[in-house]
Parts: sequence; structure tokens; C-alpha cells
Amino acid sequence: MVELTEQERIRYDRQMLLRGWGEEAQRKVKAARVALAGVGGLGSPVALYLAAAGVGFIRIIDHDIVNLSNLNRQIAHWGTDLGRPKVESAAMKLTQLNSEVKIDAVNEVITPDTAKDLFRDVDVVLDCLDSLGTRMLVNSECVRRRIPFIYTAVYGMEGYMTSIVPGKGPCLRCIYPHDSASSDKFPVLGTTPGVMGCLEATEALKYVTGIGTLAIGRMVVYDGERMQFDSVTLKRSPACRACRGSVE
Ligand SMILES: [Zn+2]
Repeated sequence: MVELTEQERIRYDRQMLLRGWGEEAQRKVKAARVALAGVGGLGSPVALYLAAAGVGFIRIIDHDIVNLSNLNRQIAHWGTDLGRPKVESAAMKLTQLNSEVKIDAVNEVITPDTAKDLFRDVDVVLDCLDSLGTRMLVNSECVRRRIPFIYTAVYGMEGYMTSIVPGKGPCLRCIYPHDSASSDKFPVLGTTPGVMGCLEATEALKYVTGIGTLAIGRMVVYDGERMQFDSVTLKRSPACRACRGSVE
């Protein structure tokens, strides 16, 4: 197991005071390898908080460049980054925040082919995407490899989050059996991916440390307009074409 340096003991002092955390959990965080599918509205807070918490290896995957219309919500990208690849822009901020963290910036489209390599060597995958089609692709790859996949989606002032742990609950295809056309442009208030990205990063840190209870088989629903959180029970579909046969 990796050791902590004196600097790290100071940097992570406050989270190591958490019940059950201490040095042992922090060493698990340092040894953890995570992948972020997308580094836009959700990926920005997720990446920043995971880097701040000391996750040892963070792979960020995105093929977009920073546009002016991204800046109301994609807080890892700033006015000085317009026209730069998002992974490059985010990698710079994350390294400045915490140079102890290894950032693997991958400027690629996620396809059935690239997915095989992108998620091969990580402990958990975080969904920071905006298309259901790509999410299903990542879901299938994670189910196949039995890697946890934290699903998160936002729309306007609403957000949805559930932790998919293969073998322990429903997968994304169980929840959304049918493909739907995703529209290119939908409303988003910047704070919505901020709220949901924080929930998502919390789940990833809980998974990595083994602390707390994950939202498996449960969709956490955030309604920013009413300022209300709800939890909806989800069931695995025995006929699911993605995870059928993969559950004990
Ligand atoms: Zn399924």
C-alpha cells in the first residue's frame, strides 16, 4: 500500500478526521484510479473535488474544445481557455490544484473500440456525459469489466444520480431499456452540475474508501426549483440486455 508524505498528512488533515477515514482510507484514495467520461459541466466539479481529495490517478476523457457558451457551468474552463481542448484546460487546473495527482488527459471520442482501452485499468468510472447513447456504451463496458459506474445527469435545475455496481443492483440499461434521441442543446443552470457533480464525487470517494452506503438501486433526484431531494427505488431487469447473466 502507498504511504502518505508529511505534506499529504497536512493537506488532507480535515478529511482524515472523518469517522472511519484516517490514514488508511487516505492511502486508498491515493492508490485509487478513476476515469471521468467527459470533463464539461459535471466533469469540472468532479475532477476538481477528486483532485483536491487526493485521488492518485484521474483519467479525463473528452474530445471537445472550450466554447464561450460552456462557461456558465463548466467551471474548470475559464475565459483564457477558449479554443483549447477541454482535457488540456482541465489538466492544467487540476495539476495546479494538486501536483501530487497524476492526470491522464485523453482527447478522444468514446466509441465501442476506444472504450475497451479507456476503462481497462481503473477502479471506478464517473459519468460526466451529456448523451444517453454514450452513457449506454460506457455502462456496457463497465458491466462487462465489473467496474462501478456512477451515473449522473442534469437538465435545467434537475439532477439524477445513482451508483451502478455490477452484481449488486440494476445497471443503466435496466433503468432505461429504450434508446432515446438526445437533443443537442438543453437548458442548464450552472449550479445544477455543481450540486450533482459533488454528489457524484462523494459516491466515488465512498466507493474507494469503503465508507458509507452507496446509492445502489436508488435514484437520487434533485429538484433545484423546489429545493428538494427525493430517492426513487430502482429494480434490476432480469431481461436486461446489458447485465443479464452478470449478477450473482
Ligand atoms: Zn442491466
